Amino acid sequence: MKHTIISPGAVIGVLGSGQLGRMLALAARRMGYRVHTLSPDADSPTGQVADAEVIAPYDDLQAIERFARGVDVVTFEFENVPSPSAEAAAKHAPVRPHGSVLHVTQHRQREKTWLRTAGIPVARFEVVESPDQLGPAVQRIGTPAILKTSGFGYDGKGQARIDRPEDSADAWRQIGGGPAVLEGFVEFEREISVVLARGLDGQVAAWAPLENEHRHHILDVTVAPARVDMKVQKRAVELARTVIATLDAVGVICVEMFLRSDGDLLVNEIAPRTHNSGHLTIEAALTSQFEQQVRAICGLPLGATDLVAPAAMANLLGDLWSAGEPQWDRALRLPEVKLHLYGKAQARPGRKMGHLTALGPTPDSAMKRVMTAREALVAGTPAVAALSMTS
Ligand code: AMP
Repeated sequence: MKHTIISPGAVIGVLGSGQLGRMLALAARRMGYRVHTLSPDADSPTGQVADAEVIAPYDDLQAIERFARGVDVVTFEFENVPSPSAEAAAKHAPVRPHGSVLHVTQHRQREKTWLRTAGIPVARFEVVESPDQLGPAVQRIGTPAILKTSGFGYDGKGQARIDRPEDSADAWRQIGGGPAVLEGFVEFEREISVVLARGLDGQVAAWAPLENEHRHHILDVTVAPARVDMKVQKRAVELARTVIATLDAVGVICVEMFLRSDGDLLVNEIAPRTHNSGHLTIEAALTSQFEQQVRAICGLPLGATDLVAPAAMANLLGDLWSAGEPQWDRALRLPEVKLHLYGKAQARPGRKMGHLTALGPTPDSAMKRVMTAREALVAGTPAVAALSMTS
């Protein structure tokens, strides 16, 4: 079936105004699109590079409708936009991916149940609505287990580990109460993610699986391609393809998975948008996840996802600012390292302020480069000149 193409010159509306929107806007502008963003924040990472920044709460349906009337397509970079807001926007412009994708993925109970029903392997879990359901659920799932709040959880927020059944009440308090999901603890060997896109015509394009290391539940470093065998890579992409096609999503999504030592993959989470682990596609792939998002939501053919070189990405969290402004020149002495900063005025611990990407002849060398560069940002670490000569 022929569909309408939203051509360059048109306006892309982004709900949300963080770094994902910023990098989307930069890619969109390069292709000749205009970008409007809506969020409650002023001078936002996206707003700084957009054509228009609308400041309104996500549940202000009138503001959302006004916003949608002024754009040609609506997408989001923040998955906790309320469903009624996505529906309000859809009265005036196509919303891609559509609101039902948000509805499933922004709520852990719905997401896990949806995955299980779709036949996707997930960790053993039970839905827990009240504190008295927790004890019996812990008995059935066993320990260790992880209790996760159902809504608005990301980067490990609203999670508590239960090592002994006696810890249950504490864990319930720690996550701030239910509804929640209790999951069996997965002894994983690696965490990987597959970022992929689906066009309006159903065409799907995936990047090679990415390997992720978390610190304190926040993504720390990504390496591409994931250092896993081809069979695992193929299986991971297959699972992600099933997820995006079953969701009937148009746009970019990310499917996060655990790889167990027996080679089994379990899906942990779906992000209905571009993802932190995909940032390295800006330098390392023929098409970045942000350009692909533009292509997908505008009805254009998808771009090639080949990696041009192995790569690694290291996040720059606000903690790096604790002893003053990081020394950017020291990191950039490694000529293969690229700096991305998101324009956030306040550096708070745990806040994603930017990232570094490095390419290299192998995933290991790219990782070494990016880690060395990040360490060099903080005064007192050894100079990086030697590494740039040797690796
Ligand atoms: P999430 O918020 O579900 O993405 O979880 C954040 C991180 O917590 C994951 O990337 C894992 O490192 C860890 N984690 C989450 N769920 C589990 C689990 N069931 N077993 C082991 N580790 C987990």
